[in-house]
Amino acid sequence: MAVNGTTRRIAVLTSGGDSPGMNPAVRAVVRTAIARGAEVLGIRRGYTGMFTRNFVKMNARSVANIIDKGGTILGTSRCPQFLTPEGRQEALTILQEAGINGLVIIGGNGSLTGALELEKLGMPVIGLPGSIDNDLVGTDMAIGVDTCLNTIMSALDKIRDTASSHHRAFIIEVMGRNCGYLAQMACLNGGADVVVTPENNPTLEEIAQQLRQSRQRGRTHAIVIVAEGAHVKSQAIAHYLNKEIEEHYETRLTILGHVQRGGSPTSFDRTLATRLGARAVDALLAGKSGVMCGLVQGRFNETPLTEVVGKVRQIDLSIFELVKIMSQ
Ligand code: ADP
Repeated sequence: MAVNGTTRRIAVLTSGGDSPGMNPAVRAVVRTAIARGAEVLGIRRGYTGMFTRNFVKMNARSVANIIDKGGTILGTSRCPQFLTPEGRQEALTILQEAGINGLVIIGGNGSLTGALELEKLGMPVIGLPGSIDNDLVGTDMAIGVDTCLNTIMSALDKIRDTASSHHRAFIIEVMGRNCGYLAQMACLNGGADVVVTPENNPTLEEIAQQLRQSRQRGRTHAIVIVAEGAHVKSQAIAHYLNKEIEEHYETRLTILGHVQRGGSPTSFDRTLATRLGARAVDALLAGKSGVMCGLVQGRFNETPLTEVVGKVRQIDLSIFELVKIMSQ
């Protein structure tokens, strides 16, 4: 597509924490750009690839057979150089020298903050929410969240088998940074007893009390899901319960860790990534900039990056009550 007589040459990069679904998003960006007559480059290793001029020309075949792959074929990184105004100015100059006149940046809160900073320097930028944490304002679901939750479910189902066989209490730590979404949904969908997140923050004694009560109601095992960002840490909970409820259960701690980031994207994540990737290119070619494409209340839309960055998405607090009802 030509704008003011110049060919559109757009670039796509993935940055920050990887999430399953970044590949289908890259694929959608590349193929939509080509379909619209634009040139498209991939920037390898996030913002780092700008400084190393790690640009690769993409065509429809460059993104063949990646729709089912976790991680990101472009690679990702954390790039301290991009945090300084001088670094960003240098990156802008390099992009301009390469003839790039639009960017699609796929990443989490940090990456989108960087996207906004680049936009302020005059580079047209569209952001896409790529994060397992679901902590981004401006989308009900980020790309990768659904796959991550399914991974957590699969682990939880296995842990429940062993927990019930041994009459044990399992403390399971899940990711999510400062947002309790993953923990809350894992608890609701995994049949756990107690959820501990930055939003509800029960005390150690309140957690112990809930487990004593569920034991009295006849439960033969217990599962506590703890968000990594909760103020009460999973180790402290395990330590406390080991002493305080040892007459009811033996306690074990499992930190799920990076297994939560991997795996083939679910059908939901592939749809989300494909729809958002295509939308990002169309937004860029229509002259939009400084926005993140997302899914809000079932509709695809754009939210200004100024309303997205530096915030943590509010989870639905009523789910805590539902968790309580379901864990009787
Ligand atoms: P995520 O995008 O998953 O939240 P990070 O917070 O690590 O991951 O951010 C990824 C990269 O985005 C950082 O390494 C940095 O290059 C860039 N970035 C993060 N915060 C800012 C900021 N305030 N200004 C400019 N760039 C930023």
